[in-house]
Parts: sequence; structure tokens; C-alpha cells
Amino acid sequence: MSSEDTVAALSTPPGEGGIGIIRISGPKSFEIGKKLFFSSREITNFKNRKLYHGYIFDRRNNKTLDEVLITFMKGPYTYTCEDIVEIHCHGGMIPVREILQLIFSLGIRPSEPGEFTKRAFLNGRLDLTQAEAVMDLISTKTQNLKDVAMKQISGKLKEEISHLRTELITVLSNLEAKIDFPDEEIDVEDMSSLKERVSYIRKSLYELIESFNKGKIIREGVKTVIVGRPNVGKSSLLNILLGEERAIVTEIPGTTRDTLEEVINLDGIPLRIIDTAGIRESTDKVEQIGVKRTRDSMEEADIVLVVLDSSQELKDEDKKILNMARDKPSLIVLNKADLEKEFHEGTVNELAPDIRKVKVSALKKEGIDQLEKYISELVFGGEVMETDEIVITNERHYNSLKKTDNVLASAENGLEAYISEDLVSVDIKEGLEILGEITGESAGEDVIDEVFNNFCIGK
Ligand code: GDP
Ligand code: ZN
Repeated sequence: MSSEDTVAALSTPPGEGGIGIIRISGPKSFEIGKKLFFSSREITNFKNRKLYHGYIFDRRNNKTLDEVLITFMKGPYTYTCEDIVEIHCHGGMIPVREILQLIFSLGIRPSEPGEFTKRAFLNGRLDLTQAEAVMDLISTKTQNLKDVAMKQISGKLKEEISHLRTELITVLSNLEAKIDFPDEEIDVEDMSSLKERVSYIRKSLYELIESFNKGKIIREGVKTVIVGRPNVGKSSLLNILLGEERAIVTEIPGTTRDTLEEVINLDGIPLRIIDTAGIRESTDKVEQIGVKRTRDSMEEADIVLVVLDSSQELKDEDKKILNMARDKPSLIVLNKADLEKEFHEGTVNELAPDIRKVKVSALKKEGIDQLEKYISELVFGGEVMETDEIVITNERHYNSLKKTDNVLASAENGLEAYISEDLVSVDIKEGLEILGEITGESAGEDVIDEVFNNFCIGK
């Protein structure tokens, strides 16, 4: 890819829409735009970023293809930093295809996936974290990830990384001065103060790395399993959380067959709920199968909702499930609160003293608000997102941060032990390199390609 190239693509989703926007970017875009466009009055000088009304005309067969609005945007103050023409045509498959074919017939090539954003990156307008945030912004289905993406687009993460790199460069230049002028009286910091600096950098890294706990939840959601013996009301509860009659509710134990996974949006957290349907097969070996399957599904879960039927005495199976839940972040849902209570809450408290309990009636839809509140407290530990907090939501960033921290730990040890400046500076250089992969400052072609290959065409 070179910026000598001019590329074009549909930037709005393909299909039927009020308008479709075709974007042309590169040095030939203005020339092409002027060649295709006709309006009732002669325009000799298109003003920057003004919308003009007219038609796209195919000279090859004297055919008017569509009625459009067109705008010419002069680089470098554009999305790609290049000259851009946008054609707002009717958003139908055929007009869009005809206009694109006409553009391609004039020697313009179709853009690759993510190429507009890649050009913005290569031309220095966005760093990789900002480009990745553009993609998140477009594809996210939850409010929280959108909010994080907006912050990242504004450059918050990029600034933090470049701040840390500046700090590392200071350490490095001090080390290099020591190496280059070992005997001279020069003004360099001693090893212990350099160690201080590295510790400070690691502290900031640690905060970023830790934020991925939250970030992962924001991006991927929380795997939640609903466990309990047959007929305690798991499917009913799932339906209520989903707000619709999705899972099959039945009075016959063991009738919900397949494991269902549904996503609900709880205060901006995607909750991926798995109903361990069919926990109990209709055989005699039931008990074991049930308990084993429950254990398996719990293993995968981030959080567990243990449902008990409070209108029945606590059974052995209940107790086993309660026992297993002790190792996981869980809540105990005391269902069927509308019926007379049969079991002793005291026993539940004894079996699971540290797990929060909430009384609900899935039938009467009571206690659900409280349950949802507890779930979100369980997930985020009652924490809310601070407005200026940087949250790492991208696994690529997380991995690089971890790797950086590893080499800096070694640098810190080296400084502590007064080993040679050479060895420490190798670590520091490596740290700089890896941090630079996050923003793209020192990212190889493979890293860059991987980022942009996830984009769609037209972005
Ligand atoms: P599952 O086998 O654990 O998925 O249980 P279901 O959700 O299929 O429910 C089993 C039976 O219990 C159904 O007849 C439900 O209507 C009933 N049930 C569920 N929740 C409640 C509740 O809170 N109160 C009462 N009275 N019945 C409920
Ligand atoms: Zn069920």
C-alpha cells in the first residue's frame, strides 16, 4: 500500500438505506470526483468541505447513475490526512454498485479492510490505540465499551503510554551516559535513584494491567451460570432476567434440554447467562450426572447464581451445589419466596456463610431489582468507573503491558544489585520497544496488519 494509490469504498453498511456514502481517498480523488459529477450549474472551483448537489454521470454510455450530494475535503485535515471525496448517493445496492464500478473503471482501486483508518495511522493522525478504539466504537453493543472507546480515541491511553516511554528514555539516557563516560564527573543520577524511577513506572504499569480485570468484563461480559437442582426455578429466573419468555419453563423436572446462552445488558455490563438446562438426565444415575455437570459449568463461569427452592427442604444435592459454589464469586437466590418457607435459612448460612443471599420470586417477579443490584456489585465489587480512569480493554495492550513489566522487573533487580549498566539498559530498551508496540511507534508490519485485518471494508 502506498499513498500514491487512490482507493474507494462504500463507507456505510451495504444494503438498503436512505443514503449510502462512498469515500474516495488519495491524490487522484479530486480529479475523479470532478470527472463523475455533474450539476445544473457550472462549478469551476469546489469549496473545501461544502456539499454540492448534482448527478453522477457515466460518460461511457451517457447514463445518469444517481442523484447525489458530493463534497471535496482537502488533506491533510481529513480522516486519512489525504484528499477525500465523499459521494452521498441513494443507499441501495444498485446505485452504490454502479457508482463504485464507474470509479474503479477510472483506475481507482477498491480499499482494503480498514484501509482508510490504516492510512490515518500511517499518516500519523491516529496511533494504534486510537485506530483500535475506532473499531470498538463501531462494533460495540454496550455503553461501557463505547465510553472507554471514546476516551481512547481522544488519546488518553496513547498519552499515558508515551508518558511512560519518556520516563524510560530518561532512565536509558542516564545509563548510557554512565556507559559512555565511566570515569568522568558528569551529572548523572545514581543507580538507586534510577531504580526509583523504574519502580514508579512499574507502579503505573501495574494500574493499567490491573484495569484489564474490569476491561475484560467490559468487552467480553461476565459468564454467569445459573445452577440448582431441577425445578427450583432456574429457567424462570433466566426468563425474567432476559425480560422475555426465551427458555422453556416446565413443571416436569429435567425438561429443559439444551444449554442456552443469552446475553443481557446489566448497567452496561454484558451478562452472558448460561442456563445449565438438563442438569438432570432422566436416568437413575441422575444425582451424579447432575452434580458433575454443575461442577463443569461452574468451572467455566465468572460468577455463579445458585438457585434454591425455599418452599422445599434443603436436599443433599442443594448442599453439594452450595459447597461447590464456595470457590467462586456467587450469589444464592432463595427462589419461590411467595410460597411457605420449608427450609431453614440457618442451614444455608452455615453451609455458605460468605455468600450473599437474596430472596426472590421468579413467579411473582419480586426481588429481581435486588438480585440485579447484587450481581453488579459482585461483578465490579461496587466500584464505578471514574471518568478519567484509563481502562485497558484490549488483550493486545494487556499482553504488551505484562511483557514490559517483566523486563522492567529484571531492570529493577539489576539496578538494585548494581549489575552492569549495559545489562540494565538492554532491559530498558526492550521495555521501550514493547511499549511502543501498543501505540504503533515500534510495531512491526505483522502487528499493524493484525490490527487492521479485523476491520471491515470502508472503515
Ligand atoms: P428449573 O428446572 O430449575 O429450570 O425450574 P423452572 O424454571 O422450569 O420452574 C419449575 C417450576 O417452578 C415451574 O412450574 C415454575 O412455574 C415454578 N416456579 C418457578 N419460580 C417460582 C416461584 O418463584 N414461585 C412459585 N410458586 N413457583 C415458581
Ligand atoms: Zn430449566
